[in-house]
Amino acid sequence: MAQIIDGKEVSQYIRGEVAKGVSQLLDSSGITPGLAAVLVGEDPASEIYVRNKRKACTEAGIYSEEHKLPAETTEEELLALVQKLNQDPNIHGILVQLPLPDHINETKVLRAVSPDKDVDGFHPFNVGLLVEGNPRFLSCTPHGIIKMLEYYDIDIKGKEAVVVGRSNIVGKPIAMLLLHRHATVTVCHSRTRDLGEVTRRADILVAAIGRANFITEDMVKEGAVVIDVGINRNEEGKLTGDVDFANVENKASYITPVPGGVGPMTISMLLWNTLESAKAGV
Ligand code: NDP
Repeated sequence: MAQIIDGKEVSQYIRGEVAKGVSQLLDSSGITPGLAAVLVGEDPASEIYVRNKRKACTEAGIYSEEHKLPAETTEEELLALVQKLNQDPNIHGILVQLPLPDHINETKVLRAVSPDKDVDGFHPFNVGLLVEGNPRFLSCTPHGIIKMLEYYDIDIKGKEAVVVGRSNIVGKPIAMLLLHRHATVTVCHSRTRDLGEVTRRADILVAAIGRANFITEDMVKEGAVVIDVGINRNEEGKLTGDVDFANVENKASYITPVPGGVGPMTISMLLWNTLESAKAGV
């Protein structure tokens, strides 16, 4: 039976470290890290996420503000707000909540965020630094996965790592982080031929697909470390990951549950990046 990787426990540890760092920064330089979240339209999931961020910021001593804009906000209006936040000395991190409404060019908006305040690590400049191996802001979910592996002393060097999913938010950056930690990395996607044949090679398997129970027991090697990034709702409306947890749990050596695995780490790493950004300006 696999050991459960407890994202809540690791998250608590990280948030404790951030809170310490925030108070040290305040003592040494009088600076309070500040995070601005921008939300356009009314997406219930985004609203919950932003609310959780606000609570986590308050607990860590980070100043936070939210900018809730109506769905009909124009691209120009949104860009003007981003520019204002770029100039605001009290704000060290800017987060534009995705998805944006269809009439707004997401790429253009994400590129307008100053790379110095890009705590999501989505700006091409920061993506470039990551690929180069000198990252400044690591995207929060992939960074959270690495922190979990470190917390449980799971060795990455020399391991076969397989990432299923190639999004800019999860798949590509986690592949890069694993590569920099000397794993042999394979990235799979919807056109991968014989997916099971590839996933069965994995010592570390990361599932970032967005399909409930997609990774089944027969796709997992005995003793693999299984990281489930997926957030899905099953037929009963229950939150579930991309991995068939009940069965894969018997085969893996470590596994992250959903909920309570990768999810809580994302916000923790956002706080981490906001603190790092504030420290960089000192
Ligand atoms: P995307 O939809 O952007 O990417 C999904 C990836 O899965 C794509 O690369 C796609 O391949 C691949 N895929 C889809 N179907 C298959 C298939 N049949 N076989 C192999 N690969 C397939 O999703 P995200 O990366 O943004 O998110 C993935 C999941 O993680 C979602 O459930 C999301 O909610 C969750 N998530 C969780 C976070 C957290 O904090 N825990 C944070 C971010 C996301 P192709 O490129 O070929 O289309």
